[in-house]
Amino acid sequence: MTSFAVPPLTPTTLPIEGLDAVFPVRRVFCVGRNYGAHVRELGGDPKDQPPLFFTKPADAAVAPGGGVAYPPGTSDFHHEIELVVALKGGGADVAPTDALALVYGYAAGVDLTRRDLQNAAKKTGQPWDSAKAFDESAPVGAIRPASGDVPSGAIRLSVNGQVRQDGRLGDMIWSVAEIISEVSKLWRLEAGDLIFTGTPEGVGPLARGDRVEGEIENVGSVAFTVA
Ligand code: MN
Repeated sequence: MTSFAVPPLTPTTLPIEGLDAVFPVRRVFCVGRNYGAHVRELGGDPKDQPPLFFTKPADAAVAPGGGVAYPPGTSDFHHEIELVVALKGGGADVAPTDALALVYGYAAGVDLTRRDLQNAAKKTGQPWDSAKAFDESAPVGAIRPASGDVPSGAIRLSVNGQVRQDGRLGDMIWSVAEIISEVSKLWRLEAGDLIFTGTPEGVGPLARGDRVEGEIENVGSVAFTVA
């Protein structure tokens, strides 16, 4: 039997609606610039800038009831509500027509962002890791097993009861099937992977003590308080 010199990582897990089994997170992929109005609110033009990918570590995911602390190193900590796709299968070079068969289910998640560090990284051409891939940067709600239909309804986020983001999943530039296909051209996907699919407009700053509540129609909710 293998003897570990330090304790091996225990997988981060997410609850699944209606089941005792939990979903073990392998990797977290994220899409940026996938809603035109959000690209414009950050000063870009969706015609010149196609969606892009970045990642977060699996242990950045925070299950319901887990804590989200205001992170060090920022004074502009932003919320981005996103549809999260949870995969039950994978592969490389997946065709869009085969992609939805890989989906286990969907959840609501928040791509937490150090916007000041992201803006600095964009200016200097440096990596986004410190802006996006920090501890507790990916709170996710319970996973709802896929019913066959891709969710297409409302996606909303409120802070202390005030609506900040109020979009439609149908406004995504790349669809869920296209996203899975595009990610699989760059990384081999596996069961346990999560894909954050981008955020609609209305992103903005959070402060310590803020109560954040997100909801996606026919998918579920995500909620946390910034500690
Ligand atoms: Mn995002």
